[in-house]
Amino acid sequence: MTDEIIIVGGGFGGLLSGAILSAHGYKVKIYEKKPILGGRANSIEYKPGYIVDYGIHAIRFSKKGVIPTIFKKHLKRKLKLVDYGEGKLFMNNEWHDLPLSISAIQNTNLLDDDEKNALTQVLAGALSIKINDEILDLSIKDWLKDKNLTDNTLKLITVITNLLCVSHNEIEKLSAGEFLDGVKKAISAGKGSSYPIGGWKFIIEELSNFIKENGGAINLKTPVDKVVVANNKIEGIYIKGEKIDCKTLILAIPIRDVFNLIDKTLFPKEFIEKAENTTPTCGISIDFGLKGTVSDIDGLITTYKPFTMSCFTSNLDPSTAPEGEQLYTLLQPLPQSIINNKSETEKIIKNIYEMLNSMFPGFNDKVLWKRPIVMPIVDGSTVYVTTHRNKRISVKSPIDGLYFSGDSYNGPGIGGDIAHASALLCAETIMSDLQEQ
Ligand SMILES: Cc1cc2nc3c(=O)[nH]c(=O)nc-3n(C[C@H](O)[C@H](O)[C@H](O)COP(=O)(O)OP(=O)(O)OC[C@H]3O[C@@H](n4cnc5c(N)ncnc54)[C@H](O)[C@@H]3O)c2cc1C
Repeated sequence: MTDEIIIVGGGFGGLLSGAILSAHGYKVKIYEKKPILGGRANSIEYKPGYIVDYGIHAIRFSKKGVIPTIFKKHLKRKLKLVDYGEGKLFMNNEWHDLPLSISAIQNTNLLDDDEKNALTQVLAGALSIKINDEILDLSIKDWLKDKNLTDNTLKLITVITNLLCVSHNEIEKLSAGEFLDGVKKAISAGKGSSYPIGGWKFIIEELSNFIKENGGAINLKTPVDKVVVANNKIEGIYIKGEKIDCKTLILAIPIRDVFNLIDKTLFPKEFIEKAENTTPTCGISIDFGLKGTVSDIDGLITTYKPFTMSCFTSNLDPSTAPEGEQLYTLLQPLPQSIINNKSETEKIIKNIYEMLNSMFPGFNDKVLWKRPIVMPIVDGSTVYVTTHRNKRISVKSPIDGLYFSGDSYNGPGIGGDIAHASALLCAETIMSDLQEQ
């Protein structure tokens, strides 16, 4: 049909773009520098019988989420998902239901009747808000300014914002438009999040098999060293000193790594500014293998101070832990300045262990193994007013034949959804450009 499309990066940006293009008859070749696929959403058998994702990983908006929609519409395959149960909030040493839907807000004991009605009204009003530059450019704090909400209600909104935007109490910086788009999608899906049965490992295997079954190729342990551009057109890539020609190239790597492969001066000033403006979210993630049953909670668990989000993955999908044991994963989003400070991160990890013992008495005695990871990038871009969807780099670059896919580009959504939506946008843009030629 056309020349092969080369994809650098076997994370979800690369795998999803590759699978969509394969589904439409294009031949793709993926080069991934690591020995495994999945990037920041990798998922491995970390200990015998434990399928462990790279940190807590949920599919936002369940069946209506971007990945299930791509599977259904383009790959014509169905993903088996299990819905999270009731969310829980641990605050002031007490457990509460976490109200993540309008009906749950009406029943929560965290707000009085006036507060419940005011919040319901604000969220119901959100449904009719058009997501345009005006609301994307407004911070959540500014959007809430004239809503006369009590401090108690604002506290709850902060927890929900932290959960949706993988944030740490930053409502003055986060985009109201991105937040409200998430709220609208959650209300329309009628569900918060789901988990893929078999772990994210299952999705990675499905995508990789699909690409190969459709004539594509995947090369692991193959770092791409350089991208060759001549007369503002893609000419190829270099791997271990060898040139591979191509006319269409997807860089499915975070924007901050792009200038390691291509000379920065080939791009216009505005592009470089946008690229350098992108701010990733960061955090500390800890996975635990636990003996016996620590908890039967099967929903998302949050804490208020510090804000953390966690889940007993094996309560959702028992195949992720050996029988009689549990898999539990927690993430604490943090600012970049703390992530780079080793003594601070060690202190935070110690505090998390102590907090878990008060949330689940005897927790530490049940730990069989733990995997703490300090993560300099959780999501490729925080959805600040300065870095919302319309302020990030487009999936189509100013260089002919060069495209981007992944969670630092301009797909709509938050967190991983940016990677998934940008992969779809990237594949659709390439198909439309190639058809025009
Ligand atoms: C702890 C944590 C929790 C998260 N929770 C969720 C969640 O609940 N839901 C959700 O949807 N998303 C979540 N995310 C976000 C999601 O994982 C990411 O948005 C997504 O995986 C990013 O995919 P990507 O392809 O853009 O980038 P990456 O995953 O970073 O992929 C880039 C790939 O390119 C490879 N690469 C880089 N340079 C080269 C080179 N020169 N040559 C060859 N290969 C190269 C890398 O090795 C990597 O595999 C979470 C992320 C983390 C870390």
